[in-house]
Amino acid sequence: MDEQQQAPMPPVMAQSFTQLPEWMYDRGPLSPVTAPALIRLNGTLAAELGLDARWLAGPQGLAMLAGNSMPAGVEPVATAYAGHQFGYYNPALGDGRALLLGDVRDRAGHVREIQLKGAGPTAFSRRGDGRAALGPVLREYLLSETMAALGIPTTRALAAVSTGERVQRETLLPGAILTRVASSHLRVGTFQYVAARRDPAALRQLLDFAIARHDPQALQSATPALTFLENVVAAQASLVARWMLVGFIHGVMNTDNMAISGETIDYGPCAFMDEYDPATVFSFIDEQGRYAYTNQPTIALWNLTRLAEALLPLLSDDEDERPVLARQALSGFNTRFHTVYFDGMRAKLGLALRQDADEALFATLLETMQQTRADLTGTFRALSQPSVLTGEDMSALPPAFAPWLERWRQRLQQDDSRPPEARAQAMRAVNPCYIPRNHLVEAMIRSAVEQGDFTPFETMLAVLSNPYEEQPGHERFALPPGADERVRYTFCGT
Ligand code: AMP
Ligand code: MG
Repeated sequence: MDEQQQAPMPPVMAQSFTQLPEWMYDRGPLSPVTAPALIRLNGTLAAELGLDARWLAGPQGLAMLAGNSMPAGVEPVATAYAGHQFGYYNPALGDGRALLLGDVRDRAGHVREIQLKGAGPTAFSRRGDGRAALGPVLREYLLSETMAALGIPTTRALAAVSTGERVQRETLLPGAILTRVASSHLRVGTFQYVAARRDPAALRQLLDFAIARHDPQALQSATPALTFLENVVAAQASLVARWMLVGFIHGVMNTDNMAISGETIDYGPCAFMDEYDPATVFSFIDEQGRYAYTNQPTIALWNLTRLAEALLPLLSDDEDERPVLARQALSGFNTRFHTVYFDGMRAKLGLALRQDADEALFATLLETMQQTRADLTGTFRALSQPSVLTGEDMSALPPAFAPWLERWRQRLQQDDSRPPEARAQAMRAVNPCYIPRNHLVEAMIRSAVEQGDFTPFETMLAVLSNPYEEQPGHERFALPPGADERVRYTFCGT
């Protein structure tokens, strides 16, 4: 039979999480919404997951994506976790507004979890309503898909659904539900939660689960827990380095918002920086700037130290040796961060060879950018033109850059012998033309929330799905905000 004529197929999902102790999850009842409607389905991702997009877009699919009813065999759970929020330990967080539908094996053979965010109260909701407002759902959809298009590890967005209901925040806002996909939703906080019970067997079970999912190679090691820790440290160091290279500020790097997989997770008040300033903070609630742009590597290491503490009992049978091994694993962070960040900077500046003086060259560029309040994305993109590389075009950057440009061009002379066109092309493949500009994200959200107009959302999604390629007619998406368009603060909206 022709594939087109087959009936749409409901998903076949496992619920692997229930292999873990039963106190780690809750099977709550569903909380149906009155008038669900599909805002967007990510057909490409559905195909990648082996899911039938026609079924997902149909009535039963919509019912699942709205948390109204589940097809046979899909048995959602909300999972428990703890976490340090702004440095303070909270022993009981958990999926207060998320439901893990289950997991599938994708076309590449990897296990991927599917989760609803905003599907109603769970056993872990505390005083929250378990819901999500439309604005944050669209923000997460757009930013996570952009992150994927940039090639940076991230959870993905499979669907956004409006609920037809309002949620009470500072004002009444339209409600929505995001369906997101992650290789797992295990967090540093998941390990903290289990470690706090002082039950080594349960901790071992969680570790085995995480290793099977993310790091099966670690089983070959004589010390799987240590190898696992080292690999999580490396994955996070690499992730944060990649955020830094594109100016991404997560905004709430609490230990419950840091995924073991090394994927960017829990997009809240996050934003990309426009003008380069290391002290940039957008999140309104981050009064001390704990999660400022420049603090992100330090905070990531702080969070990983909490993970190491949680794993301590499994690191060695010899109690005295445990902290030594933990420290050794954590020491891998700086090395890895340094390598990914500086190699990334080299690529951004079109350099193929490593030289000792490169780091000073990068530092001077950043200082010049900070002094001139230069746009981070725009500056690197301006450098990625053959005429700028060769010095034919001296006006692409403000005059304050002239001494640095001279140094850079001299450095290029000592690099490999690629012609300027090839070098510039390689630079444009790592220096995005488009990032989700905060002011445009906010305007997109206003259109959807106030006018019910999703055209800006669709347009931005399309432009940002190809962030490295100039798209004629979409020049305004590459521009920094005007003086009156700047967005100072972002909000969690929870
Ligand atoms: P976040 O800062 O968004 O990562 O959330 C921190 C914790 O608060 C998590 O345990 C969430 O599940 C929970 N939470 C956030 N918003 C809500 C909400 N509207 N209802 C219930 N729980 C929530
Ligand atoms: Mg969170």
